[in-house]
Amino acid sequence: MSGSLVVVSGPSGSGKSSLCKAVCEAYDFAHLSISTTTRAPRSGEREGEDYFFASKEQFLAAIDSGDFLEWAQVHDNFYGTSKSRVIEALEAGRTVLFDIDVQGQAAISALFPKETTSVFVTTPDIAVLRQRLAGRGTDSEEVIEKRLINALIEMNQLDRYDYLLVNDDYDDSLEVLKAMVLASRYKVSRVSLPEFISTWKGQS
Ligand code: 5GP
Repeated sequence: MSGSLVVVSGPSGSGKSSLCKAVCEAYDFAHLSISTTTRAPRSGEREGEDYFFASKEQFLAAIDSGDFLEWAQVHDNFYGTSKSRVIEALEAGRTVLFDIDVQGQAAISALFPKETTSVFVTTPDIAVLRQRLAGRGTDSEEVIEKRLINALIEMNQLDRYDYLLVNDDYDDSLEVLKAMVLASRYKVSRVSLPEFISTWKGQS
């Protein structure tokens, strides 16, 4: 049986990155897909842990070499999901979490419709999102406004997702996301039914 894929999207500042990291720490079978980006590292971000940081030239070369499962331009920067690690993880029966935007979700769900579960994480309202982005102290007022506009655009595509998680209380949200990730491994769509039934009958 192959593994499962869980795509987690939502506005920057919704808490989705911390939640994804915590789920991967809680479950041995889960790991986070580390994207490549042309965005400059924020303070505290580490190469290979948060992102693989690349120049625009390196990124464009990786597109040409077919290294990405999907890539997108978000807030003036490029972001891409590496292909090889995802395929390996699926074959090994693992669960891969993706912290990617709505364009990435559409691409991964189309490529792996049977394996993918999608979750949209957001704040209780836009005022809380503005507060969290400002509190982070990493973005200028202009960048925050851009992220809020992008959040509203993304919210309009919520109906493409399987689950909606309103991250009001972090600990509660973590329990809910863990349950969703666990459930992603039990979807009937991931199972080859003839193979399962033949094994079940003792004929394999
Ligand atoms: P940030 O700059 O805040 O780390 O990320 C900006 C947005 O890009 C977030 O919504 C994040 O989920 C998304 N993102 C990060 N990596 C990828 C990726 O590989 N593909 C796509 N499509 N979006 C990504």
